[in-house]
Amino acid sequence: MLAYRHAFHAGNHADVLKHLVLAEVLRYMGEKDKAYTVVDTHAGAGGYALDGRYAQKNAEHLGGIAALYQRKDLPEPLQQYVELVRDFNAGGALEQYPGSPAIARMLMREQDRLRCYELHPTDQRILESYLADRPNSQVQNSDGFAGLKAELPPPSRRGVVLIDPPYEIKTDYAKVIGALREALQRFPDGTVALWYPQLQLLESAQLLQRLKAVGESTAKKGWLHVRLTVAQPDERGFGMLGSGMFVINPPYVLHDRLAECLPLLVDVLGQYDGANYLLEQQTA
Ligand code: SAM
Repeated sequence: MLAYRHAFHAGNHADVLKHLVLAEVLRYMGEKDKAYTVVDTHAGAGGYALDGRYAQKNAEHLGGIAALYQRKDLPEPLQQYVELVRDFNAGGALEQYPGSPAIARMLMREQDRLRCYELHPTDQRILESYLADRPNSQVQNSDGFAGLKAELPPPSRRGVVLIDPPYEIKTDYAKVIGALREALQRFPDGTVALWYPQLQLLESAQLLQRLKAVGESTAKKGWLHVRLTVAQPDERGFGMLGSGMFVINPPYVLHDRLAECLPLLVDVLGQYDGANYLLEQQTA
């Protein structure tokens, strides 16, 4: 039933975009002393060996983090994200890729709370052992969509929710909208970042319209949408063209920070001449 394993995709162009945005959001949260909570509803294993069997199958990281890792000309936000990946590799060659809980762990302070949900038992165990020595961390082997009820609002009323499901089951498209509504109802000031794949599917096209509708009706501090399109569909119309992040109540600096990075990401990660990005926001 749980066929999806993130190890097949670790460090690809979609992870680069997602983790760049996540890192930027968490850096901003860290600017105030007051503790904050991160809820990662679909957390994965926390880290992935890039020379492992899964990651090597399609070597997706070659079209993602590997193309950035050695560059010296990166805009500051991208450079800082790459530095996190370098820290995860103890400063050496790119052998491991950090998942979202690891990106969060590297940026969070001891007082900040990390709440992870992961349904796959193997990935959940790996993540639990990775976070075992971090105070203020919990890893649940249960449904992250349902977990939001228990987690929100966080005790300090400062928090970030990352919603990053596999979308292999079409019901995920409806569930993310429900989860977003639930999160904002319980925690209207919270920053909620949602990842989605750009596919030639009706569900994929409709999702963005529905996200914007939720954003427009509920977001206290507006929303931001960023999309990076790197590939064309195959001859049958299949394949992931790129991915996007939809952020409700984003840090006010996020738009400009991403605008610095996106042209280079298109140049370096784009797989055809039509590769492009979209960056839009609505301020409240
Ligand atoms: N957020 C991770 C990162 O950025 O490194 C990657 C997560 S991956 C895209 C999605 C994960 O969600 C998979 O590990 C999968 O096993 C898990 N999963 C699927 N459905 C779930 C659910 N309802 N609740 C919690 N985890 C789920």
